[in-house]
Amino acid sequence: MGMEREQLRAIRGQLENRAMDTGVRFFGVADLTGAQETIVEQGDDFLAAFPRSISLGIALNDGIVEQLSRHKEVGVARTYDYLYYTVNQSLDRIALHLSSILSANGFQTLLIPASDTIDSKKVHGLFSHKLSARLAGLGWIGPSCLLITPELGPRVRWVTVLTDALLEPGSPISNRCGECRKCVEACPPKAFSGRPFDPSESRDARFNVQRCIDYRIHLKNKFTGVRVCGMCIHVCPVGRREV
Ligand code: SF4
Ligand code: SF4
Repeated sequence: MGMEREQLRAIRGQLENRAMDTGVRFFGVADLTGAQETIVEQGDDFLAAFPRSISLGIALNDGIVEQLSRHKEVGVARTYDYLYYTVNQSLDRIALHLSSILSANGFQTLLIPASDTIDSKKVHGLFSHKLSARLAGLGWIGPSCLLITPELGPRVRWVTVLTDALLEPGSPISNRCGECRKCVEACPPKAFSGRPFDPSESRDARFNVQRCIDYRIHLKNKFTGVRVCGMCIHVCPVGRREV
């Protein structure tokens, strides 16, 4: 048993080092055993076989996030769109690499791509990256439904590797939004109700996702050719560098 724990600790260290070497800013492990019902409800039964998840986060480039109040301009919108695409690709590649390290050590893994939407109506993937990152203690969920890290606020993209390796997990941190409601006020189509995150409520109580989609389709058709807004990321004071 002691030996096994040592081995798991060594593997966790190896995974974290590899991730950090390849440009990952956030690394965390979540204990999923208390969240199985939610996970199966959103995704599929086979996801219940994975008691842990590894969350990896890459920082979004500040230079472009700072310009997002001008998201109706083609240059800003397209640059941000391309950044998203590039970061997602990097995340998927690193996740694949880490899952191969776990497989080589005899563990099962399931990779959840950075940008994966299986339900086009509700707009969510097979598994929630934010759920994993929150349970891993990397941040909290704001009224914008974004994962807010203490270091960089919502300026992070995530990927997740599910595994049966019983790596030592982190624990959730408390919500630090305080009285702030900037993201709620800044959303052009008013897609957020302003209710604080409550894990027992569905996302619909906080976020009218259709309003966000319709607004971004409007931007694409009328202005920029890409479905980019990002005002909820741009205005968040957490992680914003003083300029
Ligand atoms: S991306 Fe824009 S429209 Fe969508 S929720 Fe954020 S602020 Fe609102
Ligand atoms: S803008 Fe304010 S309320 Fe919204 S997530 Fe950031 S800190 Fe929280």
